[in-house]
Amino acid sequence: MELGLIKGIGVKYLEILEKMKIYTLDDLLTYYPFRYQVYRLSSLDGTKVSVTVKGIIESLPKTVFIRKNLNKMEFRCLVDNLVVKVVIFNRAFMKRYLTVGKEIVLIGKYDEKKNLLTASNILFEKLVNGKVEPVYHLISGISNKQLGSIIEKALEYRNEVDDCIPFELGDRYEFISKGEALRIIHNPKNSEELKKARLRLIYEEFFQFMFKINYLKYKYMANNVGVSRNVDYAKVKEFIEGLGFTLTIDQQQAVDDIYTDLISDKRMNRLILGDVGSGKTIVSIIGMYINYLSGMQSAMMAPTEILATQHYDNLVKLFEPLGIRVGLLVGSMKKREKDAIVKQLASGDIDVVVGTHALISDGVEFSNLGLVITDEQHRFGVNQRSNLQNKGHLCDVLYMSATPIPRTYALTIYGDMDTSFIKTKPSGRKEIITVVKKEKELKEVLFKCLECIKEGHQIYVVAPLIESDEDSEVNDVNLLKEKFEMAFNGKVRVGVLHGKMKAKEKEEVMGEYKEGKIKILISTTVIEVGVDVKNSTMMIIFNAERFGLATLHQLRGRVGRNDLQSYCYLICNQDIERLRVMEQSNDGFYISEKDFELRGQGDLFGIKQSGDMSFKIGDLRRDYKILLQTKKDAVKFIEDNIGNGFIRYRVYRKIMKSMAFID
Ligand code: ADP
Ligand code: MG
Repeated sequence: MELGLIKGIGVKYLEILEKMKIYTLDDLLTYYPFRYQVYRLSSLDGTKVSVTVKGIIESLPKTVFIRKNLNKMEFRCLVDNLVVKVVIFNRAFMKRYLTVGKEIVLIGKYDEKKNLLTASNILFEKLVNGKVEPVYHLISGISNKQLGSIIEKALEYRNEVDDCIPFELGDRYEFISKGEALRIIHNPKNSEELKKARLRLIYEEFFQFMFKINYLKYKYMANNVGVSRNVDYAKVKEFIEGLGFTLTIDQQQAVDDIYTDLISDKRMNRLILGDVGSGKTIVSIIGMYINYLSGMQSAMMAPTEILATQHYDNLVKLFEPLGIRVGLLVGSMKKREKDAIVKQLASGDIDVVVGTHALISDGVEFSNLGLVITDEQHRFGVNQRSNLQNKGHLCDVLYMSATPIPRTYALTIYGDMDTSFIKTKPSGRKEIITVVKKEKELKEVLFKCLECIKEGHQIYVVAPLIESDEDSEVNDVNLLKEKFEMAFNGKVRVGVLHGKMKAKEKEEVMGEYKEGKIKILISTTVIEVGVDVKNSTMMIIFNAERFGLATLHQLRGRVGRNDLQSYCYLICNQDIERLRVMEQSNDGFYISEKDFELRGQGDLFGIKQSGDMSFKIGDLRRDYKILLQTKKDAVKFIEDNIGNGFIRYRVYRKIMKSMAFID
């Protein structure tokens, strides 16, 4: 069912829905409310301040325009046999619906002394006591009511949405049907049926996820024959000794794990989990070196061009002196340049390549790919795990992730991989000093900035938005650029970086920052991932209340990358208690636990929209038991069905096909 064919969804709504990443009937019907508003009628007995009452309009409303963006409407209303004065702000547009004698529902606060009801909302429909209204996350251009009614229309087609719970499991748990669950979730009659619907939808979501993970594992095990390499560890040791620093114990352990995997005849399928700055990159580079020694090519995939370029620069420095040929492949390169790299990969003239998604595009082939590495794995979806591996015959795979996820959760979610944890940071690092500041204390922070720049160091500034509305209280990148330039009388070079810039522009800015020409770099969270400029010693995050702790931690991890004292300032006016956690700890695992406690999964790793753990209704922490159950059920489902090379479910056939290895 195309969305455009649904009654009530015209071009305008299609555009808005697209912006909300709703493209299909499935997307729309699984755009779940994040809470429900329950309307309970109350009376004006004077003991309640907040009220929801029925009333009959007694007088036509009078409107007063107080100033721009502020108007007030007043009228009288008969409520519970009492005539009360009603005021409501900024609803002048409702005036023509407010006719004498009409019955309405008033929601607001009642002041008995003044006999005044200050309404926050007026409803025109007949209100059944206990009416429940779903509340959705919205973007501008669509109201909750409008979205609600679009979804209501779409619900007529609810039976066309794939039901992904296998019959036998549906029977065993006595789940209601998918269509019924969708109907309920958008329009529950009572909390009991809502509970049933939620349980079913959470189970389904987790089951699908667990199916994918365990299907990958199954495929892996079923075909677990890799290349066994003959590599002399003495050579690896020599390389490590040439790095200029000693590996931490955990790094060394991870290297040993990788070495063992690579020389064995099994395929490596390993995840390196370590906090930001724990030094995962070098571990993977050593992995590539081992692979190189065995005469095979390595490929490393990063989520952004900035990061890919940074890895490339590192690799060139470490590898080219040894005669190892390194290449870069990113989307923004000229076609001619790309073609040249692609050719060299196919002919074996490049030993190590790093790139973005461009690496998994169709034309790319390798002559002898032995090792594939994905950096910041949590940015990629489960489906993408297999794509790059398909490029090589039986190649080994290494993932890196900075997800500071508690170990138990990690083992469940990354259950298809072996894991190496890097818990400690390289020694000699000073703890980053973190301070929460109110916006009115900004002067102090600016003073610190000046000191920092005088010492020859650099500063990151993060804002939540590129551009904000005029009267919004949120700082945006452009505004902050002006602010900072003004604060330093234009004497300090300020650069700007955000996701809407062209790749070339981003690269230039990043380049100038790396060279130290730009002293202050103002950006959105695009710098969150992996950027490594050692000379940065200060991170300032505006409207910090808008970010999850885990995201803040990732951002903060951009500084403190050498033995200098680094600082992080969190600027905010609200939510200060939550942010204090950041002052107390530099430990990503502790912070992620706290984040879990305080907000549930929330935007756990700042990856709400993409990546592995973007659940729409399930919550890892709250619903962990369900997750574990689906894991069991998915494993059994795979053994029972796919084991015989047979699968009854169209949806699962589809999923398998999209994930299948080609080898
Ligand atoms: P992440 O785990 O966040 O990817 P990186 O690999 O970028 O961390 O490492 C952060 C910085 O620490 C890099 O500049 C890297 O060169 C440096 N580094 C890594 N391991 C060590 C070590 N054992 N001793 C000193 N510095 C190290
Ligand atoms: Mg990294």
